[in-house]
Amino acid sequence: MKIYNTLTRTKEEFVPINEGKVGIYVCGPTVYDFIHIGNARPMIVFDTLRRYLEYKGYEVNFVSNFTDVDDKIIKRANEQGVDSKVISEKYIEEAKKDMASMNVREATTHPKATEEIPDMIEMIRILIDKDYAYEVNGTVYFRTRKFKEYGKLSKKNIDDLRSGNRDLLVSGEDEKEDSLDFVLWKPKKEGEPSWESPWGEGRPGWHLECSVMSKKYIGDVIDIHAGGEDLIFPHHENEIAQSEAANGTEFARYWMHNGFLKINNEKMSKSLGNFFTVREIADKYPLQVIRFFMLSAHYRSPLNFSADLVESSKNGLDRILTAVDKLRGFANNANNGSDAAIEKELAAYEDKFDAAMDDDLNTADAISVIFELVKFANVNITADTPKDTAVKALSVIEKLCDVLGIITEKEEELLDSDIEALINERQEARKAKNFARADEIRNMLSDMGIILEDTREGVKWKRA
Ligand code: AMP
Ligand code: ZN
Repeated sequence: MKIYNTLTRTKEEFVPINEGKVGIYVCGPTVYDFIHIGNARPMIVFDTLRRYLEYKGYEVNFVSNFTDVDDKIIKRANEQGVDSKVISEKYIEEAKKDMASMNVREATTHPKATEEIPDMIEMIRILIDKDYAYEVNGTVYFRTRKFKEYGKLSKKNIDDLRSGNRDLLVSGEDEKEDSLDFVLWKPKKEGEPSWESPWGEGRPGWHLECSVMSKKYIGDVIDIHAGGEDLIFPHHENEIAQSEAANGTEFARYWMHNGFLKINNEKMSKSLGNFFTVREIADKYPLQVIRFFMLSAHYRSPLNFSADLVESSKNGLDRILTAVDKLRGFANNANNGSDAAIEKELAAYEDKFDAAMDDDLNTADAISVIFELVKFANVNITADTPKDTAVKALSVIEKLCDVLGIITEKEEELLDSDIEALINERQEARKAKNFARADEIRNMLSDMGIILEDTREGVKWKRA
């Protein structure tokens, strides 16, 4: 398989450090709110990378963190008058629900920054011992210039950064030896979560978290490090500096970065306010459609989000699911036997799919191959096709969809809006004293796994 490596700006043959095994680290979200569909792009893309590597026979150790200590979390907690753990725990649970509904598998490990503080302190200690870090007034800084390869990922020249950053000197920063130095440990401020350390009470810097968690759960050298392209600088550049300085070895062999999900040609982001949460979108579409939409573009290309494009993904996906449904019927009712010519063609589609995925995870081309295969099956697999061949056609489509994380069971997905419409109808029935209809709707919802609760604030519902 070839992977485009941001470090070398070329497509390189993927060779794992240990034969048959791959360690992947993906920077996860900062948990202060529901995730938006921009955040969902790396989740879906790199979950698909994991699935593809597993399909190729690798054992994958997939690690993705939750950043659960951060200014934004603290701000949100202060606004609501709760502990920042209340906020982070809530949104970790919500993020996990969203991931599950997009069929993004749980990572092998989802470390949380707040649970790894002793290892962070240890890495800072090593960096200080090696003279790569220094402490001033309770803050520990990384001595950026000492790391000679600084800028190798983002291709930035350290001297350009230096002149650029001089203007950015703000109060408190003048204690740094150099404006380029970044924070490894910051001292406690009133009302902030903090931990004891040799440099006083405080908390770790964001960049350090990933260096420490990837080392602990994968090792000093990781095969693939991934995240959105906004993380290349400074986050990933700083991770490299910290890890390579502390461990004395290369940090990550391949760096993969997804392009932005955009809206009206602007990056979708919380700060611009131009975002949709995964939860909002779930109300309008089954989240499979969103997964399919994300994979319909190459992961490095920017992708514009629009209702039209999502609608066309929905139609495309329906075409596949309908074909699968039809094939199931043929496979169940066919007469025994096989058709070698058709099976040979089916195998050729599999090879073509693999070739697309081997080319830097080209899911866009891989989906085109699935469409070609569906077209082929629609024409060539009929009620007269022998059983082995009909079963084979079905299993090839199912298998390729599974690699992309697309579920082929054609289940009518129950949308939140459908449920709420039924609940409203039940309320209307009750108002009109049509209790028979109201009960009928309650039973219908119960059969669909929806539990209703009549409360003083109105009807509440949940999925069983
Ligand atoms: P954050 O919580 O902002 O650190 O983001 C978590 C992950 O989502 C990172 O890998 C980001 O690069 C990625 N990300 C954020 N916004 C977008 C976007 N609009 N398109 C693609 N990836 C994004
Ligand atoms: Zn990171």
